[in-house]
Amino acid sequence: MNNLLLTPIEYLKGVGPNRGELLRKELGIHKYEDLINFYPNRYIDRTRYYKINELQNNNADVQIIGRVIRIKTVEQKRGKRLVAVFADETGEMELLWFQGHKWIRESLKLNTVYVIFGKCTAFNNQYSMAHPEMELLEEHKNSLKTAMQPVYPSTETLTKRGISNRVINKLIQQLFQETHQLFKETLPPYLLEELKLIPKNLALFNIHFPQTPELLAKAQYRLKFEELFFIQLQLIAKNMIQKNKIKGHSFEIVGAHFNGFYKNHLPFELTNAQKRVIKEIRNDMGSNAQMNRLLQGDVGSGKTIVALMSMLIALDNGFQSCLMAPTEILANQHFMGLSELANELNINIKLLTGSTKTAARKIIHEELENGTLHILIGTHALLEDKVKFQNLGLAVIDEQHRFGVEQRSKLWQKNTIPPHILVMTATPIPRTLAMSLYGDLDISVIDELPPGRKPIQTVHRFDSNRLKVWKFIKDEIALGRQIYIVYPLINESETMDYKDLMDGYESISRDFPLPQYSISIVHGQMKPAEKDAEMQRFSQGKTNIMIATTVIEVGVNVPNASVMIIESAERFGLSQLHQLRGRVGRGAEQSYCILMTGHKLSSDSKTRMETMTATNDGFEIAEVDLKLRGPGDLMGKQQSGILNLQIADIVRDRDILMLARNYAMTILKKDPALKLPEHLNTRETYIQLTKKKNIWNYIS
Ligand code: ADP
Ligand code: MG
Repeated sequence: MNNLLLTPIEYLKGVGPNRGELLRKELGIHKYEDLINFYPNRYIDRTRYYKINELQNNNADVQIIGRVIRIKTVEQKRGKRLVAVFADETGEMELLWFQGHKWIRESLKLNTVYVIFGKCTAFNNQYSMAHPEMELLEEHKNSLKTAMQPVYPSTETLTKRGISNRVINKLIQQLFQETHQLFKETLPPYLLEELKLIPKNLALFNIHFPQTPELLAKAQYRLKFEELFFIQLQLIAKNMIQKNKIKGHSFEIVGAHFNGFYKNHLPFELTNAQKRVIKEIRNDMGSNAQMNRLLQGDVGSGKTIVALMSMLIALDNGFQSCLMAPTEILANQHFMGLSELANELNINIKLLTGSTKTAARKIIHEELENGTLHILIGTHALLEDKVKFQNLGLAVIDEQHRFGVEQRSKLWQKNTIPPHILVMTATPIPRTLAMSLYGDLDISVIDELPPGRKPIQTVHRFDSNRLKVWKFIKDEIALGRQIYIVYPLINESETMDYKDLMDGYESISRDFPLPQYSISIVHGQMKPAEKDAEMQRFSQGKTNIMIATTVIEVGVNVPNASVMIIESAERFGLSQLHQLRGRVGRGAEQSYCILMTGHKLSSDSKTRMETMTATNDGFEIAEVDLKLRGPGDLMGKQQSGILNLQIADIVRDRDILMLARNYAMTILKKDPALKLPEHLNTRETYIQLTKKKNIWNYIS
């Protein structure tokens, strides 16, 4: 049976080499089992037949019984089209083809009863249907037919090449016949019983040929559960294996560095959330398994000090640490921030980025290898082969989503015993998504902001109100505050964006003239050194206004800046808007965020503006973001397609996800190797999946 399912798809009756090639290329269907697991994305009612005089101009798919009474080719400016007049006892309509005329002319039978299916459109009260699906009434009667006819995902090429929905449907029917529906159960019997899940066979049959609406719902539920269950099983198992087998350095000592800092140099009292998280990290690093922990905390929640204190524990145990950031500006900020915090600790902290000079670089390489360098901060430059630590004990990675999984493990390879890994992210990831993406990581959350912060006031203003906004800025500057004005950036190299920014800069320079006002500007076409110099001027209070593209998105910390103006705010995603807003509200003063847009907004843009003005809570915003964009897009372009789910949807099916996760956890706790007889099927599926679809295939 299993072997049969591995048969190449072209051997299925009705496929052959040509269609096989198309199915592979267009839909990724290589084998029988791929076709079985190719699920419809919606269902339509095909028990109902419409009369031509009942048609409505509503874009719904309908099915009509009638005959083709005439056929003609019409010449048009934009090319030929084939028109057939289709009639039933109530009226006439037109069927249109823009392609494939020869084949259709040859195969269409005049005055024979057909069932046609497709979308109708009306023009001058005349209905027409383009590229209808057609079936002879005789055939139609014989085919499996239900109230919920499946509609499969398709592509333009497939439609053009005649692989219609009906063809796919037929192929799946054929497949069910050839395989006699002997699909193996994958879930343990007691689980089916407990959760009232229908068997695999029944589920697969009903997903393709729903017998009743209830059975369809049950089939969907069962298959969603199964999909999420096996992902969770892989993630959790991976986590357990890491805990048990991947030995880590055991940092048993909490010594002079940590305690000295804690007792004498803490610049402020830690929040409870910070304390809790530090404890979690201490526990992890104190056991002798490798730590893999994700630290989530909204912008400004105080992750930096947590990172430092974790690195001090490593130091107390005689190990080096590194901190890797996604951009030079951010690495630089971390370097300055950590150096300041650790000012009186007498430890050696250095910065390594792409622009580190050769001489300095050489010293760093040496000090790393002889162990006199304690903490190294930097960008991707840390991953270069030349960078060799004497004993790397902890790697902190900031802004995880910009580094791929591969890079994470590249840090590993630097030692025989891998360092502990602490991944920090300011992008609040909804818990359900975090679980599915980072199920192999343990998660710590700083869910509390340092005390005394005034919530940032956010407003949405139209461009037509700019004068009032400028007046407001002038008042704030008069009070001694500083202002960010951010322009969108779709692509750093796009001259359009650059022009927007420069136009803005010019007009702002006119409205805020020297010598009363001074303005900084930072954008992607500047050299890192220039950017840094300009950032410095602003952070030292030498300029009042910082005009920038989104390069300031992450990490920049200027507590005296109290206003964030975001131009063309509709062009930013929610999480980006939230990140930008997090650049203000870092000092004691009331801060503001002003979202500037034109009057014309899409409904999604409106939702984004409303969400931003309604809440400062990053997690709430992330939830809305997830709903608007869907999980694949949450992390931005680089990691789109982050979760290749076949049927489940992380947002809509989060209850099923939780359930699946809980069960996967319980089962693995009881039977880590899935060796119990009742888990044999599950184990087999699990092994196949890990071989074929390693979990990293789900994650970018
Ligand atoms: P993020 O989590 O965004 O990296 P940072 O670590 O940069 O946040 O902290 C933001 C600001 O809050 C910094 O100026 C930091 O000194 C300050 N801060 C952090 N923790 C506390 C605290 N417990 N009490 C007061 N201020 C704090
Ligand atoms: Mg930070």
